Amino acid sequence: APTMAQDNLTAVLYKINDLRLEQRPIPEPKENEVLLEMGCVGICGSDVHYLVKGRIGDFIVNEPMIMGHEASGIVAKLGKNVKNLKVGDRVAIEPGVPCRMCNFCRDGRYSMCPDIFFCATPPDHGNLSRYYVHAADFCYKLPDHVTLEEGALLEPLSVGVHACKRAGVTLGSTVLITGAGPVGLVSLISAKAMGASKVIITDLVGHRLTLAKELGADCTLQVAIGDDEDLLAKKVEETLGQAPDVSIDCTGAESTFRLAVKSTKRGGVVVVVGLYSSEVKLSLMEAIGNELDIRGSFRYCNDYPSALALVASGKCNVRSLITHNYKLEETLEAFDTAKTGKGNPVKVMIHCKRSLA
Ligand code: NAD
Ligand code: ZN
Repeated sequence: APTMAQDNLTAVLYKINDLRLEQRPIPEPKENEVLLEMGCVGICGSDVHYLVKGRIGDFIVNEPMIMGHEASGIVAKLGKNVKNLKVGDRVAIEPGVPCRMCNFCRDGRYSMCPDIFFCATPPDHGNLSRYYVHAADFCYKLPDHVTLEEGALLEPLSVGVHACKRAGVTLGSTVLITGAGPVGLVSLISAKAMGASKVIITDLVGHRLTLAKELGADCTLQVAIGDDEDLLAKKVEETLGQAPDVSIDCTGAESTFRLAVKSTKRGGVVVVVGLYSSEVKLSLMEAIGNELDIRGSFRYCNDYPSALALVASGKCNVRSLITHNYKLEETLEAFDTAKTGKGNPVKVMIHCKRSLA
């Protein structure tokens, strides 16, 4: 067995359904990087997708890839130019590091950078390992009362914060969220924190709606595949007492995008967060005649500080998204849970610190 000083157990996806734990050398931080002892890494739908399908759109796992991008860690070593962190700082890791030079980066829309490095998006490696190096300026120091679990959850939470900023959610907004998976739930948490007065959230599955209620949903609507979309839109309006100002589509299931378009008030905003690999059928006239703004939302951009402020305020309970916990050594079981859905997982969390046993 490796000694503690050499142990860098790492979860590597070789190809479809071939995920392995293996030792890798501990990397050295470059001048603007830090070496991190990894804390927590959440499993995301995209990790499972790479495991099962080997690709997401044009991103294909051709070479073995280290998994993991929803992560937190503890600074173990500083690159020689790093000033913003100290050894021992606990940090949340923003997984996308842009080039900082292109027009998108210069314009402040760095998530649109075509050369962005993004953890566990082929060919870029992730951080599901004992040690990992990352750009120091994309690590956010956590206050003492924010846990490493919460630090890892800033990643999905930032997706929700970004979606709500794109949607223009503000004091008094009425909001429809389709889908109560992790993405729908973080959108719900963000919408309530940003002042939404009434949020209705839909799902096929009752237990996810129960969690949504606990997280602050004002109304829930359980739907079934094949439900009449016009009737559902009416139900949304009746339940809210008015058509929603904004809708945030968080399923990746085509019918919910149509429901969002049908439900949103005239002149409102539809934000699409759920990813679609194929074309989606839509009556465009409904969007045109109602002057809807349809906006994509992808990852996050300058949203980690907001997500951290929200968690640090203690006003949201993002931790209740975590339904399952595993150690790094149990990564294959963790992925099995995420993949099969056994035990109704919402967020599966992997704890990377070596146990002292
Ligand atoms: P998930 O599969 O855990 O959750 C989706 C939820 O939608 C499930 O609870 C499911 O029961 C529900 N659902 C399915 N069909 C439905 C229907 N017709 N009506 C209502 N609910 C329905 O996935 P997730 O992790 O929450 O991610 C959701 C989507 O967001 C995925 O498409 C994912 O790829 C995407 N995503 C996008 C971004 C981004 O930056 N744009 C980031 C992360 C994830
Ligand atoms: Zn750039």
